[in-house]
This record gives sequence, structure tokens and C-alpha cells, in this order.
Amino acid sequence: MNEAFSTHEVFNQSPPFAGVNLFTADCALMEAVAREGGGHAARRLTDFGARMGSAEAFELGRLANENPPRLRAFDSAGRRLDLIEYHPAYHQLMEISTREGLHCSAWDHLGKPGAKPLAGANVARSAGCYLAIQAEAGHQCPITMTNASVPTLSLEPELAHWIPKILAREYDKSFKGAAHKRSVTIGMGMTEKQGGTDVRANTTRAVATGKGGPGGEYLITGHKWFMSAPMSDAFLVLANAGQGLSCFLMPRILPDDRVNQLRFQRLKDKLGNRSNASSEVEFQGAHAWLVGEEGRGIANILEMVTRTRLDCAVASAGLMRLALANAIHHCRHRSVFQRHLIDQPLMTQVLADLALSVEAATALSFRLARSFDRAADRRAAAWRRLMTPVTKYWVCKIGPALVYEAMECLGGNGYVEEGLAARLYRELPVNAIWEGSGNVMVLDLLRCLQREPETVEIVMEEFATAAGDDGHLKAQLERVEGLLHAPRLLDRRGRDLAEALAMLAAGSILRAHAPTAVADAFIGARLAGPMRQTFGQGLDGADARAIVERAFAG
Ligand SMILES: Cc1cc2nc3c(=O)[nH]c(=O)nc-3n(C[C@H](O)[C@H](O)[C@H](O)COP(=O)(O)OP(=O)(O)OC[C@H]3O[C@@H](n4cnc5c(N)ncnc54)[C@H](O)[C@@H]3O)c2cc1C
Repeated sequence: MNEAFSTHEVFNQSPPFAGVNLFTADCALMEAVAREGGGHAARRLTDFGARMGSAEAFELGRLANENPPRLRAFDSAGRRLDLIEYHPAYHQLMEISTREGLHCSAWDHLGKPGAKPLAGANVARSAGCYLAIQAEAGHQCPITMTNASVPTLSLEPELAHWIPKILAREYDKSFKGAAHKRSVTIGMGMTEKQGGTDVRANTTRAVATGKGGPGGEYLITGHKWFMSAPMSDAFLVLANAGQGLSCFLMPRILPDDRVNQLRFQRLKDKLGNRSNASSEVEFQGAHAWLVGEEGRGIANILEMVTRTRLDCAVASAGLMRLALANAIHHCRHRSVFQRHLIDQPLMTQVLADLALSVEAATALSFRLARSFDRAADRRAAAWRRLMTPVTKYWVCKIGPALVYEAMECLGGNGYVEEGLAARLYRELPVNAIWEGSGNVMVLDLLRCLQREPETVEIVMEEFATAAGDDGHLKAQLERVEGLLHAPRLLDRRGRDLAEALAMLAAGSILRAHAPTAVADAFIGARLAGPMRQTFGQGLDGADARAIVERAFAG
């Protein structure tokens, strides 16, 4: 880099944030991965963390976002093409994540007859996603959906031939039938113009070509208002068949190599998530195969949805983590009034406060990932059911405000597009909106309270044990119990409950596992501190410096 100008020299600017091992520089992540059962992947994650934190990976992220995908609906003669063109950087990112198995590693056992799931596989995979998302977030959309599609697809033996193609790790972007490809990706189409949350309002129709039923072929007519990663090889879509809303697998190319009747209308012009295409699409008698029974569409696609919610939380935690590390990096190099910013007491408070939220978000996300690894364990299953909506709600919701504060630590440099912060800031809200937005997560939590009181009891028992003799955790437990004991008010206090549960869970995990400086400060500021609306408050008794040092060992 040539720093010489004829008029001035460039100094007191931080060096580029690159060449960082995103795994080993992140103590909270390494500890969470080991604690929650993913320790076997540490060496691999160390290599992957170096790769994702390299200047080359950040450059791929920049290129993929500055050159968003384009729809080529027609050729020059007016024939339909329905192709999406991506920048080569997007394909390279897909190749890296696919080779790492981020779309499939939790399901590796399915490729080995008689094998059991590898212990900690979901935690290890989530850690890989947490690292990859920091280099570039948009390409993780098809990676997430492909991983999440497996349990839904597995419901239908007639579609089992798709699974080996999902488990393959050689990215294949070619526009060919699945039988001719080395690997495939899977998307999801639920949202229509008249309803995204309320998919029962779907008007898209499915008519059997033969006798219908599980695994049978149908023709689908209608539309989807949002369908991301439209170059996926197939989509799990919802449509109304005779017995009601049903789940179908709709390939882009049919088994006889004809192109299926999916007509892309346009791509969304999105706030962020630019590298990823999100389409509006019409199905003009598109062929699709029924997954499970007719009328069981919501139940059958639910497992896919639940897994994408885990990934939303992991993604938001990863993006917040990058914003924090970038802010600390800058403040370590930038001097103001003869002192590095990191040594200015007000800035140390802000950075420490941000670090507490990021550590809590990471702890919650990886505890949730563990619950996906231990499906057979009754406690883990209860945690997964109750804490999926709570974790997705809290982790995704705090992201935009946190990233804005981290951006401000960089001063004006934070606000320009060449840096990382602006892209992160535009990216984050999507994780809260899609796959169940805030209120929808709260409604899901309330549904669990109503229908599965024993699930709540199991998790509350765990919190009671974890609180031990910590006065603040015990007070928070009482607050949650108070909310639970006023069920008639819960439709108005649902967000209070979701947030209170998130704070209780995060405080309990940090108290048990984080250094005392982190646990004391988190519990003091979030569960017991004064009312606050912004970061950098309530930490006057805390060892803010130690918290910041731990947050980024870069
Ligand atoms: C970038 C992007 C990509 C997407 N990709 C896909 C995709 O690939 N496939 C797909 O199927 N969808 C996709 N979506 C759609 C997304 O999942 C929906 O936008 C989301 O589920 C919300 O649905 P909606 O937009 O219809 O809003 P609505 O359902 O109308 O909700 C609007 C608001 O009302 C709230 N709300 C809803 N019900 C209640 C209630 N009972 N009480 C209180 N509040 C309520 C919601 O929380 C939300 O805040 C994508 C969206 C985005 C932004």
C-alpha cells in the first residue's frame, strides 16, 4: 500500500481488518464450541477461521455484494431463460462453504448405512457458519436452506434419491437436472403476496397428475412473493391440494431434463443481503412431488423452518461479532487527544458493553445448536422447543442496534461503504424478519406455554439449578415466573417474557462458564443495572478493560 501523497501523509488510520483468524481470535466462540460438544472440530475450525478472516475472503465478500445477481428472464429473441447470473465471487464463496460441508455436515451419517449422527455435529456446523458469515452473509442463505431441508425431505421415501446429492461437497452451479449434477442446493417457497406469516392464506393450488398421495406428482399453479436463492436445484413449496395445505418438492429441471414451469418475475431490490438473489416467481403448472400426506404441509415443513431459525441466530451472532472485532481493532490503532481510543474510558465502556451482548448472543446460539445435537435427550428437546423462538427473537433483534454502535466506534469511516460496518448494518435486519419475525417468535413461545407446559417446567427447573445462590439470577427467575403466572396478560407481555427468558438463559450460561469479569458485568448491567437505552452504561464497577481484551485476541 502506497501511503505517500504530495500534500500529506496517511497516518493514525487503522490498518485493514484482515489476516485475522476468526476462530482463534474469538475466545468466547472457542469456549462455546468446546462446551457445547463441538470440540472435535477445533482444528478444522482453526484452519477455516484463518481462511474466512483472510484478505482474500473479505475481498470475495466485497465483490459478491458490489456485483449483485441479475435476472435474465429472456434471451434476445424473447425466449424464456429464467436464469440468475451471479458474480464469480459468489460462486467461489459457495464453493468454499460447500467444501466445508456447511450445507450438510450435520447429516453426514445419512451417507453411511447404520451410522449414528456425530456427537456435536450441529455445534461444529454452526461454528463454521458463524465464521463463513463474517466473510460474506448472503451466500449462507442457500447453505442454510439446503441443510434445513434434509429432515423434511427425509419424510418422503420416494424423494430419498435427493439426499446423496445434498451430502456431496463439490459445489456444482451448472443448470442441469439433479441426476447429472455432482451436488444440489434446495430452497424454500412459502410466502405469498397476501400472507407470509399466515401461510394458511396461500392461494397456490396443486392438482395430482395421477392418483396423488405421498411421493405423487402434482401440477402447481400460483406464485411466491419471496423465494430466495432461485438458482437452487429444487424448492420445498407449500400449495393447496385436495386435503389442504401441503408440502411439495419442486425441481428447477425435471427428471426428463425439461426446464420446469417456474417463471421468475423479478428479483427484490433489498436493503442488504445483496449477494443473495430473492425472487418473485410464478408457477405455471410446475411439476412437483408431494412430501408426506396432503394437508400436512405446515407440520412437514416445520422442521426445516426450525433449523433455519437456529441459523438466523448463529448468523446474527457472527455478524455482531465481526462488527465488534472490527471496532476493537480500530480503537486499538486510532489515537484521539494523544491516547488510543481503546484507552479512553468512555470508549472502553462502550466496547465492553458491546462485547457482553456479543458473548451472550454467542452463548445462547451455541447452547441452542447443542439442543439440536441431542434430540433424544428430554432436557435438550425441551430447551430446543422453548428456546428456539426466544434465542432467535433476542439475538436477531439486538443486532442492528449493536452494529450501529460498533459502526460509530469507527467514526466517519464506519459510515462509508468501503468498510465492513455499513454492509453489516444493512444485512442484519433480515435475520429478524425472515423465518418468523419478532412477534411471530413470541407467538410461537406462547404456543409452547399453552400446549406444552411440561416443556416449560423442564427448562425452568434447569434455570433454578443454574441460578444457585446468585441473587440477580434468582430475581430474574422470579420475574419470569411472575410473567408465567399471569397467562391472561401474556398476549400483551409476550415480548417481556421472551426477553426475560433470554436474559435469564444468557446470565445462567455466562455465570457457569464465562470468566467472572464477564459474568458479573453481564448480570450486573443486564439483569440488575439501571434503566438504559444505549450502550456504554452500567459498567462502572466492571473490569471493562479485561472484557475488551478477551473479546478480540487479534
Ligand atoms: C430478503 C428476504 C428473503 C426471503 N426469502 C424467503 C424465501 O426464500 N422463502 C419464503 O417463503 N419467504 C421468504 N421471505 C419472506 C419472509 O419469510 C416473510 O417476509 C416473513 O415471514 C413475514 O411475512 P410477511 O412479509 O408476509 O409479513 P406479515 O406476515 O404480514 O407480517 C408483518 C408483521 O406482522 C407481524 N405479525 C404477524 N402476525 C402477527 C400477530 N398475530 N400478532 C402480532 N404481530 C403479527 C410480523 O411479526 C411482522 O412483523 C424472505 C423475506 C426477505 C426479506
